[in-house]
Amino acid sequence: MIMSQRQRPFTPDSRPFQHALTVDVEDWPQSSLDHALPVTERAVTNTRRMLELFERCGVCGTFFVLGRLARKFPDVVREIADAGHEIGSHGYSHKPVFQIGPQEFTQELDYSVKLLEDITSQRVLGYRAPDFSITNDSLWALDILADSGLTYDSSVMPVKMRRYGIDRFPREIHRRDNGLIEVPLSAIPLAGSRWPVAGGGYLRLYPYRVTARAVRHLQAEGLPAVVYLHPYELDPAELDEVQFPVTRRTRITQGTGRRHIESRLTRLFDEFRFAPLSEVIPSDLTVGVQPSGCRQHTVPTKERVPTN
Ligand SMILES: [Zn+2]
Repeated sequence: MIMSQRQRPFTPDSRPFQHALTVDVEDWPQSSLDHALPVTERAVTNTRRMLELFERCGVCGTFFVLGRLARKFPDVVREIADAGHEIGSHGYSHKPVFQIGPQEFTQELDYSVKLLEDITSQRVLGYRAPDFSITNDSLWALDILADSGLTYDSSVMPVKMRRYGIDRFPREIHRRDNGLIEVPLSAIPLAGSRWPVAGGGYLRLYPYRVTARAVRHLQAEGLPAVVYLHPYELDPAELDEVQFPVTRRTRITQGTGRRHIESRLTRLFDEFRFAPLSEVIPSDLTVGVQPSGCRQHTVPTKERVPTN
C-alpha cells in the first residue's frame, strides 16, 4: 500500500523546499536515432558545457549516466562526480526496458552500476530508464531494481503518453511494497488531465512562464519538480551537423528551443532552489541513505542576502 503525500506532509524535516535537478547523460544520435551507433566525443563536449553552466549557477544535480558512454569516456564521469554531483545509472545500451525484457535488463543494470561505481568509487543509489520505459508492460523492472540493492528509481511518467507513461500512477514520491523509493517525473493536473512539465522537450517547447508556473503549482502541492535535461539540449547546431537524415518531426521535437535552454535554465535556477534527486526524497523515506557529495545548492535571487 502506498502512502500518499496528502496523508503525510512532504517536508517532515526543516530543510528548505528543494526541487530535483537531473541529467540523462547520453549521445543524441545513439540514444534517439540508432542504438547501434557509436557514442561520440560530442556527448562529452556537451556534458562539460552543462557542468560549466551548473558551476556558474552554483547548482548540483543527479547525472544518470548511460553505461556505453561511461565505458568509452570514463574521464567525464569522474569529472561529474568530482564536481560534487550525484551519479546514477541510465542503463547500458539505451534500449527501452519493455523491449529488452527482464534478463537483459538485469545484465545491463548490474554491468552499468558496477562500471559507474568502479569509475567514481561512489555507491550508485538511483536509476532512470531510457525514454521513461518503465510502463505497465515493464513494472517487473521495479522489483529487479529493488533486488539489486538500489535505493530509488525515477523512471515513471505519471501520464499516459504515446510511447511511455502510466495513467493514474501516483505523482508523489513514495515507497513501493518491494522497498524501492519511486520518484515519478513531474506532471500537473489541469482541465481534467495531467500534463508533463519541467523536463526535456516540455522545458524547451513551453515558454518559461509556463514552466515556472508549473513548478510553483507543484511546490504549492508540496511536490518537488523533477527537472530532467540532456547535455545535447545545450547544442543547437547538432541537428544541422549530424550525418543522418533528420525528419521534420524530429527537428521540431528534438531541436526546438535548444538555442534558448541555457538562458531558460539560468532563470529557473535563479527563481527556485535545486538539489540532487537523493536530497529531495523526504527524510522519513531515506533511512540509511548517505547524503550526496553536493557542496553547493542554488540560492534563488530573492533569498540572497544583499552584500552592499
Ligand atoms: Zn536517455
